[in-house]
Amino acid sequence: MDILNIIFLGPPGAGKGTQAKKIAEEFDIPQISTGDIFRKNLKEGTELGLKAKAYMDKGLLVPDEIVVAIVEDRLKQPDCKQGFILDGFPRTVVQAEALDKVLEKMKTRITHVINLQVSRDELIDRLTGRRVCKSCGATYHMKYDPPQKSGVCDKCGGLLIQRDDDRVATVEKRLDVYEKQTQPLIEFYKNKGLLRTIDGQQPIENVFADIKGELGSDN
Ligand code: ADP
Ligand code: ADP
Ligand code: ZN
Repeated sequence: MDILNIIFLGPPGAGKGTQAKKIAEEFDIPQISTGDIFRKNLKEGTELGLKAKAYMDKGLLVPDEIVVAIVEDRLKQPDCKQGFILDGFPRTVVQAEALDKVLEKMKTRITHVINLQVSRDELIDRLTGRRVCKSCGATYHMKYDPPQKSGVCDKCGGLLIQRDDDRVATVEKRLDVYEKQTQPLIEFYKNKGLLRTIDGQQPIENVFADIKGELGSDN
């Protein structure tokens, strides 16, 4: 099969992480989530984690040069040779342009940009109801994707918590930041002929089926 170098685009809460994990499993390629990388660093108390936290807590984007360096490093790992999924990166035009340069140096390119579309009201509902496993990072939703036992992770038995930045006040800010700084990427990738817009406001399995349909089709 052709190589899949995929970007998942869409506002916070659109379902990027949920779908990226499923696609990663289905096609056996790594999911690279910049948000997960920052949270892991924060948990481990690294300098990077502390630096990122100052921005994340305010609902702001971490500076481009920090994020780009991390992603460049990650893409050079051997497991990305057979394809990869970028989840939550790029988030600005500067990041997207830097990504193009990195991939060009590596003699490869993005093959698909999956843009998940969801209304603002639904996004707020999804983000405020999101719960994550403190131990393994698995994602749930109190109403739409609940664990078998309330408050406990199905996968590892860990405790489910709410992310600090999923509280209402920060959620609104993040959605505004998305509209200003990330939404322009829709035009950017449309112009490159890579954009595939998917109705993200369907049940998880239907969204998954639509994405698979797009990835199967030729460029
Ligand atoms: P993102 O990575 O884009 O921020 P997530 O994948 O973490 O989004 O999903 C946000 C929240 O919405 C999570 O609580 C998740 O369980 C839930 N969710 C994801 N996809 C759907 C869907 N299709 N329908 C309803 N809820 C969903
Ligand atoms: P969500 O999809 O729910 O917005 P993420 O886990 O992708 O959450 O991101 C959480 C936070 O991490 C963002 O609000 C931002 O502060 C930071 N972050 C993640 N990815 C990037 C990125 N590509 N550029 C800048 N900041 C980022
Ligand atoms: Zn877990």
